[in-house]
Amino acid sequence: MNHGDCGVRAKWRTGAAFVCIMDSLCFINGTAVLPDRLISDAVIECAGGRIVRVSKAGRRLPKTAQVVDAQGGYISPGFIDIHVHGGDGADFMDGTTEAVRRACAAHARHGTTTIFPTTTTGQPGQILAMLQSCAQLMKEKPHSGPRIAGVHLYGPFFAEDKVGCHSAEGRRSPSFAEYERYFATGVVKVATCAAELPGAEAFYRAARKRRCLVTCGHSNASWGEMASAFKAGMRHVDHFWCAMSSVASVRQRLGVPMQGSMAEYVLANTDMSTEVIADGCHLAPELLEFAWRMKGASRLLLVTDANRALDMPAGRYRFGGEADGSWFTSDGKVGWAPNGSLASSIMGMDHMVRHMVKSTRAPLWDVIRMASLTPAERTGIARRTGSLEPGKLADVLVLDRRLRVRQVFAGGRPV
Ligand SMILES: [Zn+2]
Ligand SMILES: [Zn+2]
Repeated sequence: MNHGDCGVRAKWRTGAAFVCIMDSLCFINGTAVLPDRLISDAVIECAGGRIVRVSKAGRRLPKTAQVVDAQGGYISPGFIDIHVHGGDGADFMDGTTEAVRRACAAHARHGTTTIFPTTTTGQPGQILAMLQSCAQLMKEKPHSGPRIAGVHLYGPFFAEDKVGCHSAEGRRSPSFAEYERYFATGVVKVATCAAELPGAEAFYRAARKRRCLVTCGHSNASWGEMASAFKAGMRHVDHFWCAMSSVASVRQRLGVPMQGSMAEYVLANTDMSTEVIADGCHLAPELLEFAWRMKGASRLLLVTDANRALDMPAGRYRFGGEADGSWFTSDGKVGWAPNGSLASSIMGMDHMVRHMVKSTRAPLWDVIRMASLTPAERTGIARRTGSLEPGKLADVLVLDRRLRVRQVFAGGRPV
C-alpha cells in the first residue's frame, strides 16, 4: 500500500500491514438518514475514521478531503446484523477463518458494517471452533469486511419442540461447564437460550455478567417462564413469530387455563426488544407493520438470519456446519426445510430495509434505525457506531434513490 500521496496523517501498525486513514472524507449530495429524521442535501464530514460533522450543504469542505458524491441518493449509517448465519456459500459454523471472512464479505456488499456471526446447534467442538475463528479475525482488524463486534451464541440451547431447521442432535440444555468455555473466549456478545430449559436462568445470569444482550429463542416458553427469565436478565426474543411460543402452543404443552406466551410477554413489556425477518417470505406485510407499531423502532430490530445460500444459486445447502448441518433447499428467495417449513433467509440487510419500507408505513428513518442504531443500543455499542453522529466511527453507506447499496465505508475505509 502506498501512503505517499493520499493525504494520510494517521497510520498505525496492525500485524505486518500499515493501515492508512484518509485525513478527511466527505459525503455530499445526498439525503442523510438520522435516527429520527432526514436531512436533504447533507454533508457528512469524517476524519481519522470518525464522523466529525453532520450538516446541510453550504460549508466549505477541507481542501484535502476525499469527496464521495451520493448523486442524489441516501447517506445512511452502516447496517448492524445481530442474527446471521452465513453467505456466499459459507456458514460461520464451518469453523474456519476463511468461512467467516467469506460470509462477512458477502454481507458487506449488502451494507452490513457491523456483524455478529451466529452459531447454530452443534457439538461443543464445532461451536468452539466457530468462536475461535471469529476471535482470531476480531484480533486481526482491520480486515476488509464488516467489523465483527462479537458472536451471537444462538444454538445449541433450544427447546426440543422448537429446533426449527437446526439439526436436532445438536441441541441440548445449558450446562455451566459448556457455556463457560464459550463465554471464556470473550467474544460472545449476544446469548440465546430457551427460557423453559433446566438451567436457563443460570445461563441468563452468566450471560448478563458477561454484558451480553440476553435473548430467548427457539422456545415454547409460557408467560411465567418469560417473567422469571426477565428477572435473570433476558431482554430480547429472536425472530418474532418464528420458532417461538403462542397461546396455542403453550396450551399444548401445559394445558388449561390457557397462558400467555412469548408473544404477549414481548408486546406487553416495554423493556423487551425483538426482531423480524423482513425478507417478504417469512412474515406478511401486516405482521411487519404490527411489530413496528407495537414495539416501535427502538425495540424492534431488522435481522437477516441469512444462511450460506445468500448470493448463491438456487439449490441444496447445509444449514450449520459444512459436514453435518441439516439440508435445506434455496429457491432463490428463501430457504426451505425438507418438511416444508422455512429454513431462514437468503437475503442481505439492504433487501430487508427495502422490503420494510415498501410494505409498511414506517418512515425511512425508523426502518434504517431498526437496522443500525437499535441493534447498536441493544448490544451496547451505540457509543461507537449505529448512527451518523459526530464522534462515532465513519460506518457510512451510500444508497441510491431505490435504496440499493452503492458504496460501503467502515471506519472511513471503503469496504
Ligand atoms: Zn432461528
Ligand atoms: Zn437463525
